Amino acid sequence: MNYRFQIATKVVFGKGCITENKEELKKYGKRAVIVTGKTSAKTSGALDDVSAALNESGIEYTIYNEIENNPSLENVKEGGKVAAAFGADFIIGIGGGSPLDASKAVAVLAVNDIDPIDLYKNSFNSKPLPIIAIPTTSGTGSEVTPYSILTRNDMQTKMSFGNEDTFPRLAFMDARYTESMSYDVTVNTAIDALSHAVEGYISKRSTPMSDVFAREAIELFGKRIDNLVSNKIDYETREDLLYMSMLGGMVIAHTGTTIVHGLGYSLTYFKDIPHGRANGLLMKEYFNFNYEAAKEKIDKILKLLNMKDIEEFGALMDKLLGKAEKVNDEELYKFASLAMKQRSTSFNIRSVSEDDMIYILKKSLNHQ
Ligand code: NAP
Ligand code: FE
Repeated sequence: MNYRFQIATKVVFGKGCITENKEELKKYGKRAVIVTGKTSAKTSGALDDVSAALNESGIEYTIYNEIENNPSLENVKEGGKVAAAFGADFIIGIGGGSPLDASKAVAVLAVNDIDPIDLYKNSFNSKPLPIIAIPTTSGTGSEVTPYSILTRNDMQTKMSFGNEDTFPRLAFMDARYTESMSYDVTVNTAIDALSHAVEGYISKRSTPMSDVFAREAIELFGKRIDNLVSNKIDYETREDLLYMSMLGGMVIAHTGTTIVHGLGYSLTYFKDIPHGRANGLLMKEYFNFNYEAAKEKIDKILKLLNMKDIEEFGALMDKLLGKAEKVNDEELYKFASLAMKQRSTSFNIRSVSEDDMIYILKKSLNHQ
């Protein structure tokens, strides 16, 4: 055995966790910038709880609520300016993966006068501001990963940066904040969490420790399949999904992702397919492609999901996601070529060629 395991985030999980632990906030300073999207912080109820806790703790704050879905370098640049001008001591990210990832970039840019493209150097003169993450979706696990996945319009793709200092210091995880998610966002984000656990489990970089978290996450998804299919998503289900997504984050914090994510980025960038949905469309063919190379682990995944074979898994994805989007030849070639450039592609258990990528895409989407 030869591995490292480190999660730099203190996790405080449970109903009412912000209100009950507001003294935690004072540790990070006197001025905070809340980084969030247009609506999620408010509709989830998280913003009200955070505002009350900040007010009661005498912490001044401002809100930057311009984070787009799949935030771009241009988008986080603005957030960095706001945080620098406010003289923030720390950053609070509230939302799905988009605002949480953006908050990591804002934490760097607030104290480093650099072009956002230089975020990818992953080395900064000044340490990023401390980040507190409050998820309102249950998918990305961004609250416990160092990754900030940003849209690079210059390269027509999404790319991740992050180092030990961009792990959130603290995550407040209250499943009530996920109750306002639509059914589609709930399903898509749950599938994203599953793909983190699965890709990490089968990855060349998997470790005995990350596998423990991966198996637990996969089993939790299995336990909640009926709730997802029937749209009977009660509070206990929400808690399991949020817990599962955090476990998935702890997995990829060590393993990274592989070709599902690498291919999925193009589906999001060019076809506006939500991140988790993109992963879900690709996962059946990902299993088929890797089956011989990772038979034991894929059989274990199917067992944890209570499924007899990969076909049954594919049928579940069809049920949850509906018909796949159309894709033409030109798109296939472009997406495959871009995915080959993602570093995560090299972590796939079976080595993969551009033709393999084209094949997986063709089988996964509605090829015209
Ligand atoms: P998202 O892009 O953050 O949010 C999707 C939509 O759901 C947005 O319109 C958002 O509203 C809304 N929403 C969020 N929470 C809600 C709530 N509680 N109630 C109602 N609406 C809510 O979705 P996501 O799937 O969580 O994040 C995807 C992003 O995370 C992608 O950029 C992906 O690449 C990244 N990601 C990061 C990691 C990582 O390790 N860091 C891992 C996987 C994926 P608003 O517009 O108001 O925000
Ligand atoms: Fe993901």
